[in-house]
Amino acid sequence: MKLSDSVQAVNGVGPQKLKKLNSMGISTIYDLLYYFPRAYEDRSCFTHVPQLKAGEKACIKGRIAGVENRRLRKNLSITRIDVDDNGALAALIFFNRDHLTKIYKTGQEIRAYGTVKKTGKFTEIEGSVLEFSNEKKSALGRIVPVYPSSEGLSSNEIGKIANTALGDIKEQGELDNIEDSIPKDIMMRQKLCSIGYAIENIHAPSSREALKIALYRLIFEELFLTVCRAMYNGSRLMSKNAVKLAVSPAIYGIIERLPFGLTHAQERTLDEIFKDMQGCNVMNRLIQGDVGSGKTVVAGMAMANCVLNGFQSIMMAPTEVLARQHYSSLKKMLVHEDMKIRLLTGSTSPAEKVNIYEELESGKVDILVGTHALIQPGVKLKKLGLAVADEQHRFGVRQRLTLSEKGESPHFISMSATPIPRSLALAAYADMDISIIDELPKGRKSIETRVFKNTDRKKAYTFALEQLEAGRQAYVVCPLIEATDEKGSAISALQVFEELKSGIFKGKKVSLLHGRLPQEQKQAIMTDFESGAVDVLVATTVIEVGIDVKNASVIIIEGAEQFGLSQLHQLRGRVGRGEHNSYCMLIQRGEISRSERLNVLVSSDSGFEIAEKDLQLRGPGEIAGLRQHGHFRFRLADISKHVKILESARACAKELFESDPELSEEKNAKLKASLEADYEAEAVE
Ligand code: ADP
Ligand code: MG
Repeated sequence: MKLSDSVQAVNGVGPQKLKKLNSMGISTIYDLLYYFPRAYEDRSCFTHVPQLKAGEKACIKGRIAGVENRRLRKNLSITRIDVDDNGALAALIFFNRDHLTKIYKTGQEIRAYGTVKKTGKFTEIEGSVLEFSNEKKSALGRIVPVYPSSEGLSSNEIGKIANTALGDIKEQGELDNIEDSIPKDIMMRQKLCSIGYAIENIHAPSSREALKIALYRLIFEELFLTVCRAMYNGSRLMSKNAVKLAVSPAIYGIIERLPFGLTHAQERTLDEIFKDMQGCNVMNRLIQGDVGSGKTVVAGMAMANCVLNGFQSIMMAPTEVLARQHYSSLKKMLVHEDMKIRLLTGSTSPAEKVNIYEELESGKVDILVGTHALIQPGVKLKKLGLAVADEQHRFGVRQRLTLSEKGESPHFISMSATPIPRSLALAAYADMDISIIDELPKGRKSIETRVFKNTDRKKAYTFALEQLEAGRQAYVVCPLIEATDEKGSAISALQVFEELKSGIFKGKKVSLLHGRLPQEQKQAIMTDFESGAVDVLVATTVIEVGIDVKNASVIIIEGAEQFGLSQLHQLRGRVGRGEHNSYCMLIQRGEISRSERLNVLVSSDSGFEIAEKDLQLRGPGEIAGLRQHGHFRFRLADISKHVKILESARACAKELFESDPELSEEKNAKLKASLEADYEAEAVE
């Protein structure tokens, strides 16, 4: 048996199990061995009956003192087996296992495992395992893995299959043939066990100590690979010879002419950027900051400085709405400068496109803003100095790479309004330097947030109506466009739109915005909302990023519990952008138990704090902005728990990339191959 063989080769895997395994994503032996347990039951020690504690799971052994079977009703029988452990008695209780009475008789030596219950003086064990003391294939006396059961395969069944496969693979020496992705020198320094040992002991731990060693190794590997992936991909962006861009004295004039003074955080970030731009390494910097913290202005000044150096600059946004908005902000902030700014999106007319292409190639255009249209092959720039990607997590590695390949190693700025916890940033963005804008412009009002039960929905809308009467505008956000049949509880934008238009907001101008509308229509609706011609915008999360309407003072979010906290925080940032007091009303449709989660938003207005909570409550895979990153669904690592391991993994990776940036040394070959494979896989997705 080889690792690359189908799981079908495992004894006991017939067509049915094969199908189940396949739909669990397990097709080869290798996949099977990488399907890790989620927990362990320590059945390695036996407890004497007098030492048993109520509520714990324990193994006991002894001699059967009596067997009794009782039928309570048609579908329920109880088998009680009294066990004598050196004079101390305990009763093993089994439900609906009548056949046990045929196998187990008074006087026999047995072992058992189960949950201890104490009633008065009596000790009962609700049994899950029972076997004879001389049982050869014992399920006791060892640490037993608990697998995530799935597709109708129980943990036990998966365990059996995994164990059989492990036995065969080991016998044939294949276990030692698994190639280590972690370079040898790092293995030595970190005192990591071999991958073979780790795989064996994660499925069949020989002791607690062995399990610990195996787990450490596998968690380290997961985090190490994540960090290396980021660094490796980053190294593609950053070839050595950067364009050196001096800080032009004229840039300070431009900053002077802005209608506002920069915040300290903005100034600090801009300084960091300017320092990078002058260096001989390519800048790869991420600006993180809450919605409205003024990232775009900072990026705009960096772009202007690039132009002042005689280079071009481009900014890519994930949606047309955002691209247009950036375009108009940049035009506004550079209105007094002699810089040519153009917009290129999917809806730019072919004639105009040709025109823009020409002007880009001849160097007439200084600043280009747009959507994915920017990375089309037709776009060629004369002299690109700086590329900016807004909401960078919405773009894949390859798209960012393509963007930067529009020039000869231009500097790169990524922006994100999704603050992520530091620990996660260390892993996810290991290749980038991070600037954090943790201060909102002066005079920004905090947004009052309240959670409403669905039955109090009307109160939220009545309040919104008052705001409309006072001349303000409102957003209503729904999780879905249309209700799907299976999830009747989910509320749809379409439904809410119809309800509001003829109900409480009758006489107001209500519009519906969602991702399926044609681009021009979306644009027209947004323009009407911006100009105040539309009072209420009912929308899906298409409004999540970037929209900036200062007169909007209320946002109502329907089915709020269906969103992640970070996402809600981002949505909330649509309001509170002008001088008006602003409000966010979270309406909860589903379970009350989740309301505690929503209360985090009531008490905190820090994106970082909220993201930290999201990480704890939902895990890194669910954090808005990382959902697209399949790699953050760690199998074993828990980023909020394993910070120490992460830090040493990161330190190792950093040293590695400093000494061998392209991973061309022989000892790093396997690592390189697996990072390449990940990169290819991402491109296909
Ligand atoms: P972000 O991209 O971080 O969401 P923007 O750069 O779009 O934030 O800024 C949000 C709004 O705040 C814009 O209208 C912008 O003009 C304004 N703004 C930015 N920086 C400042 C500042 N220092 N003082 C006042 N207003 C600012
Ligand atoms: Mg923005």
